[in-house]
Amino acid sequence: MKRLDGKIALVTGASSGIGEATARRLAEEGATVVAAARRAERLQALVERIHAAGGKADAVQADVAVGEQIDALVRTTLDRHGRIDILVNNAGVMLLAPIQDARVEDWRRMVELNLLGLMQLTHAVLPGMYAQGSGHSVNLSSLAGRSVMPGGSVYSVTKFGVNAFTEALRKETVKQGIRVTVIEPGPVATELIEHVTDPASKARITEVFSSIEQLQPEDVADAIAYAVTAPPRVNINEILLTPTDYAR
Ligand code: NDP
Repeated sequence: MKRLDGKIALVTGASSGIGEATARRLAEEGATVVAAARRAERLQALVERIHAAGGKADAVQADVAVGEQIDALVRTTLDRHGRIDILVNNAGVMLLAPIQDARVEDWRRMVELNLLGLMQLTHAVLPGMYAQGSGHSVNLSSLAGRSVMPGGSVYSVTKFGVNAFTEALRKETVKQGIRVTVIEPGPVATELIEHVTDPASKARITEVFSSIEQLQPEDVADAIAYAVTAPPRVNINEILLTPTDYAR
């Protein structure tokens, strides 16, 4: 008997990095994982890898910055699996740039995905969790949700927002049997920094990340697994994890 046997876990941003590692980890614990992101081929490869390891998984292509696709993702998951026990709101982008040089389009992308997408997906999943009287919502914030660095203004806006939203959600659902956790990693070796559009910011963050021993996606997946496998009476509110050789 595995700890998450019978649980349905929806993981966004599962086509790479932390989301992919989390999908594999939760499947190892026995959950049926619904892996969501835009790159369908990567999701399919992940599902095949989980199946080959003896786990259960399913892929749903979705852009989590688009309202109709969020609703369709939840509908498809409920049609196929009947319920959602664990929601890992992980999809996100970090488009660093000083305020003066930033592209407003990048700000919009971050707010629409990291914040509005996460909020709308939570809103769409919550009625099912209320009806079940159980569920666990895990939101990916960041060290940038606790401290702001130059060039990280709007990324931090979104992650501070995730922290505020998560805290409100936890307080509102406290009598519903629903657990709520926010995860705040420092630098993790993923594709995240590849998407920075401002060349100077990309060079700076690449230098910072390569000067330390970054966390691995599996380290964050372990933290998420710890929270979701805790006994039902235990709510892990917040996990802040950083590389040992990194101070901020
Ligand atoms: P990656 O870039 O490796 O993964 C991001 C994931 O988000 C991908 O699977 C991507 O899939 C998905 N994604 C991006 N845009 C969309 C969209 N519009 N709709 C659906 N999915 C989307 O980065 P990480 O694994 O590092 O990032 C995961 C989370 O962790 C993010 O929220 C990030 O802010 C947070 N984080 C990361 C840290 C780090 O240092 N790496 C530190 C702290 C927090 P696809 O492109 O296929 O849609």
